[in-house]
Amino acid sequence: MEESGISRATVEIMQKHDFRVRKKYGQNFLVDPRVLNKIIEAADIRREDCVLEIGPGLGTMTALLAQRAGRVVAVEIDKMLMPILEETLSGYDNVILINDDILKVDMKNIVEAYNGGRPVKVVANLPYYITTPIIMALFESHVPLESVTVMVQKEVADRMKAEPGTKDYGALSLAVQYHARPEIVANVPPNCFIPRPGVGSAVIRLSRHKEPPVRVKDETMLFALIRASFNQRRKTLVNAVSNAQGLNVTKEQALQALERLGLSPSVRGEELSLEQFSMLAGELQP
Ligand code: SAM
Repeated sequence: MEESGISRATVEIMQKHDFRVRKKYGQNFLVDPRVLNKIIEAADIRREDCVLEIGPGLGTMTALLAQRAGRVVAVEIDKMLMPILEETLSGYDNVILINDDILKVDMKNIVEAYNGGRPVKVVANLPYYITTPIIMALFESHVPLESVTVMVQKEVADRMKAEPGTKDYGALSLAVQYHARPEIVANVPPNCFIPRPGVGSAVIRLSRHKEPPVRVKDETMLFALIRASFNQRRKTLVNAVSNAQGLNVTKEQALQALERLGLSPSVRGEELSLEQFSMLAGELQP
């Protein structure tokens, strides 16, 4: 990558504030203008939108978001970044900064307080050490969402999008695809960040389904079944499910349910589609 104005400004602001990057917070600042623009384009930000940004860092993407959106609410864990953000975002009166841990705040309350409970668009260059918990928290705590456009590790983006029968397919693929339609927007090499991460990255857009693509009586049962099936990936589904604590399914019940669905007794979780998992959950419902 050629040195961009953004990478120079990033180094300058870090030097000015004597800011040292903290690895424990997954701090890799995005400095490539083309990638920043791609994220903003893919997120389709309009004046009527409220954006929830997770981990604004030095505020580079926050400023671009603030130029397009009605309002940006940015949650940053690192208190050392707060004075920097105050400075870099001083020209924007539509940015709300919250110094907190995204996994501890009540995201539903934030959406209620700053967008009247209407769906927000989440945009972030996520801290990689907690990508999966953040994505799961967004969906499982029923935060009103329109879409989630995020930079993640390439390998995690592939898992979110994976189809049955592939090596990347697992509980994360099923959870994401139950809630949203995933689409990889860009692959991003390490040299687009300061400092460079040790892995490749990708921007993925998750567009929330209006209705889940499958109907289930009990979502908890569906996801307990999915987790059990992939916890013991090398076992057959029958063995994985009947060994799982908390599911209360016997080997006999699992075998009968598979037979009723016309599935092989030796099938493995990784071969089943979301629809087949939902039918199986229905069969195993007490
Ligand atoms: N948005 C900036 C950018 O694109 O350059 C920074 C992205 S950096 C990969 C991740 C950011 O998330 C860092 O600013 C980090 O301090 C912040 N962060 C890490 N853990 C967090 C948490 N639990 N809650 C909120 N922010 C967090």
